[in-house]
Amino acid sequence: MSKRVIVIGGGVAGMQTAATLAGLGIHPVIIEKGDRLGGKLLNWHKLFPTFTPAGEVLDTLRRQLKDVEIMTNTEVKRIEQSGVVLNDGRLLVSDAVVVCSGFDIFRAEIKEEYGYGIYDNVYTTVDIERMLNEGKVHTADGHIPERIAFLHCVGSRDEKVGQKHCSRVCCITGVKQAMELKELFPQSEIYNFYMDIRMFGPGYEEMYRQAQEEFNIHFIRGRISEASETIDKRVQIKAEDTLIGRPLKMTVDMLILIVGMKAGASNDRFAENRGIELYPSHFIRPRNQFVDNICSSAGNIFYAGTVTAPKNVGESLNEGVAAALRVSKYLED
Ligand SMILES: Cc1cc2nc3c(=O)[nH]c(=O)nc-3n(C[C@H](O)[C@H](O)[C@H](O)COP(=O)(O)OP(=O)(O)OC[C@H]3O[C@@H](n4cnc5c(N)ncnc54)[C@H](O)[C@@H]3O)c2cc1C
Ligand code: SF4
Repeated sequence: MSKRVIVIGGGVAGMQTAATLAGLGIHPVIIEKGDRLGGKLLNWHKLFPTFTPAGEVLDTLRRQLKDVEIMTNTEVKRIEQSGVVLNDGRLLVSDAVVVCSGFDIFRAEIKEEYGYGIYDNVYTTVDIERMLNEGKVHTADGHIPERIAFLHCVGSRDEKVGQKHCSRVCCITGVKQAMELKELFPQSEIYNFYMDIRMFGPGYEEMYRQAQEEFNIHFIRGRISEASETIDKRVQIKAEDTLIGRPLKMTVDMLILIVGMKAGASNDRFAENRGIELYPSHFIRPRNQFVDNICSSAGNIFYAGTVTAPKNVGESLNEGVAAALRVSKYLED
């Protein structure tokens, strides 16, 4: 009988892990707490750096899942040596477990000074992905925005909210969305307020240049200290341009907060298993960050995707393949 491997989470990392395991003759079971597979990509519009529709990537992965058992609307509460404990208290036994439970989005309401959830025209990058998918990008009262500001590092690199890490993918998300909005509204002025620009992936630096040179998007080094609403429901922002050392006030039609990636809510419970360790950020720490960086200290528990750190889709998919191959070797041994 083929060995059974539980894959926790049906985002891109989990789907890729399960598809690779099935191809190796192993019986994977994806356990997903949501009602369908896809994870965060279900909410994304087009993916940087190629502007490939997120749905296209998910369709390709779905086609590879025909030999995979899938349990949706089921949450894994704990990981034991013999398997996983589900939300209904059942223990599901398996030969190995791959944790692909991903990340959570930082809740922008926590940064009260920016007025998310209070002022009508303050949005997050997650809202913009949804609005792009629905084909309805406009201000709260239905107008075309003439001036838009993006704010980088909301809920990342911020000790005050306990998120010291850099979320890595959000600078490029801000660049991508600025380009998409400029295409929709060529007459608009778009500003990105940043602390540092981090363009770590292939093609990212080129996109950043293209955004400036061809799309005329303005990048201002400085942090917005506060936002307030004007009488006509626009958003007034106060910032400092730290390159020229001058304070700055600007009124915009939309303020878009580039929200960071925080550790998944399940990680603390998973770490009750002695073989699973956490970083101070609460992302899961692999046994070794170089060799076998998809392995835990417990022999039969493995990781793939953003459960261990912020990553892009390509990196998450690669880890899915790596984890499946490592599981296969473990089962052979
Ligand atoms: C605003 C934004 C835009 C982005 N745009 C891009 C882009 O254009 N290009 C790009 O390369 N990357 C992009 N990314 C990064 C991308 O979203 C991630 O690389 C990708 O989602 C990682 O996939 P994952 O499978 O690791 O995690 P997730 O997508 O988070 O999937 C994890 C899954 O596990 C499930 N789960 C969690 N806990 C449990 C549990 N206890 N039991 C059962 N199921 C559980 C969740 O419901 C979810 O379905 C973006 C990120 C953000 C924040
Ligand atoms: S990737 Fe950019 S926006 Fe995101 S946390 Fe790092 S520096 Fe800030």
